[in-house]
Parts: sequence; structure tokens; C-alpha cells
Amino acid sequence: MTHHLSKEQQALQARARELARGPIASNAAQVDATEEYPWDNVEHLRAAGFMGMTVAKKYGGLGLSFFDAVLVIEEMASVCGVTGRIAVEANMGAISAILTYGTEAQRHLAAQFPLAGDKPAICITEPQAGSAASDMTTRADKRGDVYVINGKKHWITGGGVSRLHLIFARVFDEAGAEQGIGGFIAIKDQCTGLRVGAREPTMGLRGIPETELVFEDLEIPAKHALIPPSGLRRGFGELMNAYNSQRVGAGTVALGLAAGSFRIAREFLLDREQFGRPIAEFQGLQWMLADMSTQIAAARSLIYGAAVSRGPNGSVFPDPMAAAQAKLFASEAAVKVTNDALQLFGAKGYSRNTPVERMVRDARMFTIGGGTAQMLRTLIAGKELGMKLPQTRDGYVVRDLDKAKKEQAA
Ligand code: FAD
Repeated sequence: MTHHLSKEQQALQARARELARGPIASNAAQVDATEEYPWDNVEHLRAAGFMGMTVAKKYGGLGLSFFDAVLVIEEMASVCGVTGRIAVEANMGAISAILTYGTEAQRHLAAQFPLAGDKPAICITEPQAGSAASDMTTRADKRGDVYVINGKKHWITGGGVSRLHLIFARVFDEAGAEQGIGGFIAIKDQCTGLRVGAREPTMGLRGIPETELVFEDLEIPAKHALIPPSGLRRGFGELMNAYNSQRVGAGTVALGLAAGSFRIAREFLLDREQFGRPIAEFQGLQWMLADMSTQIAAARSLIYGAAVSRGPNGSVFPDPMAAAQAKLFASEAAVKVTNDALQLFGAKGYSRNTPVERMVRDARMFTIGGGTAQMLRTLIAGKELGMKLPQTRDGYVVRDLDKAKKEQAA
């Protein structure tokens, strides 16, 4: 299926494709083998204008849309999942949350990081708060004109290489009363008390570190607190809205990996001969290829649709339902398609000398990170049924902020 792209988008896609299939593809195996962050690829992305391309022109970016970014990310991920993910985080998630909800000064401050080649880190998940993200215990205590942050995050993509961090924490006022959950902008080399902890030995996407981050009396100027328009009490939901862009981005990396593995598997089918003829002539394999092609087409339609969608109430971010459906479908499709691509290669597919082995490992993450497939199904079901689907045993546990305030005052 051909999706309508403007002339500019076709040119953008062609430029991204040339870069991806040139130097990014050549580096991909080495990035995986050395497990080192691909600074060379980042420099290629930066020079091409792909780091911070969604940043508004006013702040120095190209002012491109999420859909434009999706076109670029898909190309990068089709040869290197790690580079695809860097392109996601340099254009979506933390940076788009700050650019949407931040003060003018915060926007100017944050924009310069991806534009200079930094992949911002979004810090939500904690050892005891994964799918139940709002159970986080990292706290930010107001002390005069600073917030003092203490706590621990884990599985933070880019830990140790990212400079700009958006840290989510429970906020307490000077009297110790809880205010809700807010975001805090921290620049790694401009603060003390932000320690990079252990790195996870990951299955795939090995060129990008996943680490613990420990906050020990990390002082953040109050002017770097990201308070969404509806205030702290309802702020977490609003801040998480920005995550819908990142969710579409994650789905795009999955789509790119599926499409990339399909492309090389298709070539192999035409090339490899057994029983005196190309294996592409065997109907069993033709049908596998047809299913793979269909899964990719469906995933692409959902992703592109989600990228141009907008959530309710004038949201600048993709619609939560569209983003959830797109990421759910694309991530599961990627697991299946990359795995089938490996199968089509026979023993060669099982060798680390063939990119499909890496793509299988890289694709596996996307049904987990950024909202598991199970949690996305719950979200989708809730929207379809028009029901809130509380996951705690006794339904919603609404933290009684007023009561807490009164107790504090007493
Ligand atoms: P858990 O929540 O403990 O879930 C365990 C299992 O139970 C899962 O299968 C889950 O689907 C299932 N489950 C849990 N609750 C329910 C329920 N109510 N109904 C049905 N099933 C349920 N986080 C960040 O903040 N920043 C990052 O940059 C980041 N990067 C990541 C990168 C990678 C490679 C990975 C793997 C994770 C990353 N994460 C990041 C964390 C990610 O968002 C969490 O892993 C995810 O939210 C799930 O949390 P968990 O791993 O603790 O699983």
C-alpha cells in the first residue's frame, strides 16, 4: 500500500534512506558487538538535521511533525534499531513534553540538547513501579527555590550518555504535604547528586545503555520544575500524554525492524537455491512472506495513522487509543516478522554474521518497554468499553491529598 507523502516528505524519506542504508547500516553489526553508544551515528543524524527535527523553528529546530520524524525513524530502524531509538528520543517523549508544557526559558534550554546531538532521557520506571508507574516513590521536596530529589529509577535508556533528563517524582511542599507528580529537568553535568548505577546486560539494542539512576539530594532549581497546565494534582496524566508521541516512535522502530528483516529475507529467498531451484519457488515460504508483508503493511498503516492523529481537548500529541493500538500491533508484528525472517534464512539466520539474528533480539523489547502489550490491551479495552479499568485489587486508591495536608498542618 502506498501512503500519500508530500514532495517534502518524499525528499525527507529519501535522504533518511540514503543515510540509513549507507553509514548507519555499515556500523550496525559493530554497534551490537561492541555494545558501545554509536556517537558516529549520532553525528550523522545531527548533521542531517534529524536530532531535534520536531523542535519548533523558534527554538532552533526544523519544526517538522511527528509524522515526518516517523518517516526518518523507520528508515534508521530498518538497518539499526539502536539508531532508530536515538532518533525517537531526540524528537519525541521528554523533549516534546518540555517543549509543550515548559516555560519559555525551559523550552530554550531543552531544545539545544537534541540539536547538539544529545538523546534526552525520560525517567519514570522504578524497581517497585513498572506498569504501575504512578506508584513511584522518588520524591522531590521543595526547599526554598530548589527541589531536592531522592530516589532511584531503573531501565533508563541512555543512562550515562544522556545529558538532558526529565525525572518524574512525587512532589512535596515545604510543609511536607504531597502535591502530586511532576517532572524535573536535570542536566547531568550541571548538577550533583545524579549518579548512574548498574547497566543492564540486555538481550538486544545493545548499543544503548539501560541503567539505574540514583538521586541523592539532587538539587533542581524550582524554575526547572515542569508543571503541566492543570497543575500537579492532575499533572501526571498530562505529562504522560507526551508519552503518546514516544509510544508511536517505539512502534516505528518495531515497524522498521520488521521491514528491514523482511527486505533481506526476500532477497535471500530469491537467491538461495535448494532442490535445484530458488527457495522462493516453494509455496510454504511464499505464504510466510505474504503474511510478513501483510503484517508490515498493517503495522505501517496504524503507525502512520497514529502519527497524524491528535488526542482530545486540543492535544498536540497523538491520540492515546491510536498510539496504543499502533504500538501494540507493530511490536507484536515485529516479533513475529523478524523471527520468520530468521527462519527463512535457515542456519544462516542463526549466525551472528547475518543481521536478522540481531533484529530478532532488538525487536523483542517493544512488547515490554514503554507500556507492555498487556497494559496496552487494558487501555484499549477501557476505551472501547467506555470504562475505567482500575488494576488495583480494591479499585482506584485515590490519595487523599487534602487529608494529608490537614494532618501535616496539625
Ligand atoms: P511489570 O510491571 O512488573 O510487569 C510484569 C509482567 O506483568 C508484564 O508482562 C506485564 O505486562 C504484566 N502486568 C503487570 N500489570 C498487569 C496488569 N494490570 N494486567 C495484565 N498484566 C500486567 N522506563 C523509563 O522510565 N524510561 C526509559 O527510558 C525506559 N526504557 C526502557 C528500555 C527497555 C529496553 C525496557 C525493557 C524497559 C524500559 N523502561 C523504561 C521500563 C519500561 O517502561 C517498563 O519495563 C514497563 O513499563 C514494564 O514494567 P516492568 O518491567 O516493571 O514490568
